[in-house]
Amino acid sequence: MEWIKRRKTRTVWVGNVPIGSSYPIVVQSMTNTFTEDVEATVAQIKELERVGCEVVRVAVPSVRAAESLPEIKRRINVPLIADVHFDYKLALLSIENGADCVRINPGNIGETWKVKEIVKLASERGISIRIGVNSGSIPKEVLNKYGAPIPEALVETALNYAKTFEDWGFTNIKFSLKGSDVKTTVISNKLFASKTDYPLHIGITEAGTFISGAVKSAVGIGILLYEGIGDTLRVSLSTHPKEEVKIAYKILRALELRKRGVEVISCPTCGRCLVDVETLAEEVERRLEHIEKPLKVAVMGCAVNGPGEAKFADVGIAGAGDYFILFVRGKVIDKLSQEEALERLIEEVERIAGEVREK
Ligand code: SF4
Repeated sequence: MEWIKRRKTRTVWVGNVPIGSSYPIVVQSMTNTFTEDVEATVAQIKELERVGCEVVRVAVPSVRAAESLPEIKRRINVPLIADVHFDYKLALLSIENGADCVRINPGNIGETWKVKEIVKLASERGISIRIGVNSGSIPKEVLNKYGAPIPEALVETALNYAKTFEDWGFTNIKFSLKGSDVKTTVISNKLFASKTDYPLHIGITEAGTFISGAVKSAVGIGILLYEGIGDTLRVSLSTHPKEEVKIAYKILRALELRKRGVEVISCPTCGRCLVDVETLAEEVERRLEHIEKPLKVAVMGCAVNGPGEAKFADVGIAGAGDYFILFVRGKVIDKLSQEEALERLIEEVERIAGEVREK
């Protein structure tokens, strides 16, 4: 039985990254540094790249931020999206400064001619635009018609923008529709997806702090992905954006849509547990974030049951009192002191993956 059938969408390019149903779902994130602080922004983007971020968005709230884009772009390896609100001139400046895509919400840019200026320049430079529609910026006439920012209102707004852009001869667009809760977002995206073949950027806006945000995102994004909807995604969290990327991959992996990097499996622990599994598993996960190859690594609480319970893991360790055992696909291959266990496990994974962390 087919597990997930992706909705057919056209391809839109963000720099050299294709977004659409003919390609894998793209993981993106957004920096939370001041964009004009080039050093800090580049450093954060490098961290994001390291954990698999494929497209990055930066806020452009000022001329200085827009003018920082060429230098940022020169020093990073992923396409750069400029996020612009209210001021169409900043969108123009971002495009002139090499943004690979601009994210605008036409509802807050203001008069139509301003939006048209952005579209004209994007068209000349051959870059794409992401149109963001959210509950807070639905035009008055649509809001009056529906009385509240219900999914139909969001979808009508998005379709109106699509029509306007098409009338201007511009179709290099992807959309995001975000309500203030999971339900509105899911229904809006489903409805929009049934009416067009434009690619969709999915995510739950203002998802929240780490745990509540991760759960809300996993539920909202997960439902949409299961329905075959979503060509690129961002998990929004009020934490370091690196966590957003890691969670995005965990969601994609759980749905078997994409596999990247190490999945650390740890046992739930029980009365037989002889080590601090939680701390160790977190440390293993942190130390292996640079690995791209999809591997399963187990951290188990006891040597009696651990290797058997985790025999599907590519490699793992299990506590055995004052020592650890190292096992590969359920077979014990070594006995290690507590001090050497972690290092040996990391080495073993890097060896299997053929990837060693850059020093
Ligand atoms: Fe308990 Fe050992 Fe299983 Fe962990 S691996 S849950 S400690 S039996």
